[in-house]
Amino acid sequence: MNYQLEMNAKLPYWYLNQQTSIEESIDPATRDKLINERLDFLKNPDRKDIEFGLDKYDKEELGKRERMAFTIMKIGACLDPRLSAWLIETEGDVFEKDFRLLKWNDKKAILDDLYPREAGAATWSTVEDLVYDMNEGDLYKKLSIKEESTQQIRSSNTLYATATVKDVRGMNKYIALDFRFASQLIRTRKAILYRGWAITTVSRFIVTIKHRYEETIGKSLTEYADRLENKPNPVMKKIAKEVNEILQKKVEFRRSRLQIDAIELEGTLDENMGILPPCIEDLLVRVNEVGYIGHWERLQLGIFLKKIGMDVETQLHFWYDKAVDNVNMTFDDFINKAGYVIRHIYGLEGGKVNYEMPSCTTIQGKMFCTFRHLGIEHINKRVVSILKRITGDKQDENKKNVAKRIIEASIRGLPNMACAYNLDLITGIKRDKIVHPMIYLKLAGEKSGKIKKELDKNKTGELVEEGEK
Ligand code: SF4
Repeated sequence: MNYQLEMNAKLPYWYLNQQTSIEESIDPATRDKLINERLDFLKNPDRKDIEFGLDKYDKEELGKRERMAFTIMKIGACLDPRLSAWLIETEGDVFEKDFRLLKWNDKKAILDDLYPREAGAATWSTVEDLVYDMNEGDLYKKLSIKEESTQQIRSSNTLYATATVKDVRGMNKYIALDFRFASQLIRTRKAILYRGWAITTVSRFIVTIKHRYEETIGKSLTEYADRLENKPNPVMKKIAKEVNEILQKKVEFRRSRLQIDAIELEGTLDENMGILPPCIEDLLVRVNEVGYIGHWERLQLGIFLKKIGMDVETQLHFWYDKAVDNVNMTFDDFINKAGYVIRHIYGLEGGKVNYEMPSCTTIQGKMFCTFRHLGIEHINKRVVSILKRITGDKQDENKKNVAKRIIEASIRGLPNMACAYNLDLITGIKRDKIVHPMIYLKLAGEKSGKIKKELDKNKTGELVEEGEK
């Protein structure tokens, strides 16, 4: 086994975004040990326990092991939407916990890494530096902000502060992020927008910073998935398969209470476009018109097509016929390359898992949700065209109001609610929000009489997923 590791001296040893590459096949016993260590830590991510008695060099060694385990787990999870979502969320939570506890200088090193300079310009800054760079005078006064130099300590079982200490962790410090990275905070007025910067305290930015970190994991998972798809290498495929099997067995997912397993529709895909969940409809339009969608979006659409009864052969032909990157490729070549991922979806490759359709939360985190990821102009266009299709030249004030609400909910950053209004616009069915594309399809399909067969997993519970009510 030969690892190549580079460590940025300024970054904390546990920070996983540091280069780690496995050059040769890792022996299974070492690999499994690393995975088990990491899984144990993720169950109880308390560094105080594991750091006890370790010197600087021990910690560096520990950091290497953690990064190796993380890399191996990413290879095992990258083709599996549920495991990928679990890895991103779990590692994101651990990062947030550790980041909060860092001293200010260490926090700065991580911010430098997560928000690097672009075309020579900073994408994050302390307010002090901003004052200096912009020659702004007293920015604190101008923006009516005041930095607290102390912080109050509360014990977990009381609301009252038990001590006041110096803010060495910098949680009260005001910092500025390029506004593109903090649009939600600006929209909800939790950060001040000033000359292209979103400004607020580290404490208020913490979730935004965690999401940024999670994005880096998602990006890295996509890179591994692309490698497995486009440059399949037998050693990597073997690791992906074996590690996926281990993770499937060991990871405790939140139990889903979603009833629907699969729904078969009457008629062709084209005939059913109007009742498909908006995200799926948009992805199909993009595949037809552009011939290309990204890796996670392909998984989202691929699993959905499976869940509406498309068999693996038909789906392989579907992608072979539509995708532009298949030009000059025979069908057999295609099966050997991109076919791997499609066969994976059907549980015919890798960990042999029969993938579930991801929930809207998972989709909104890393796949494609119409109301989360399309720009408002596009949503507007989309809504106007549905309204025209449904009402023709008739003036229907009720439908017009519902159409307006889709746009309002999208602007307010409430995609599940916007999707429920979309369902209302098309079918007249009223719901507070949509939490799963299969629920959307079931409701729209029932209303239009297009459901041929529905496979229920069980007969209990409501059409909700845990944690998404
Ligand atoms: S809310 Fe769910 S079903 Fe609706 S578009 Fe977004 S991801 Fe798809």
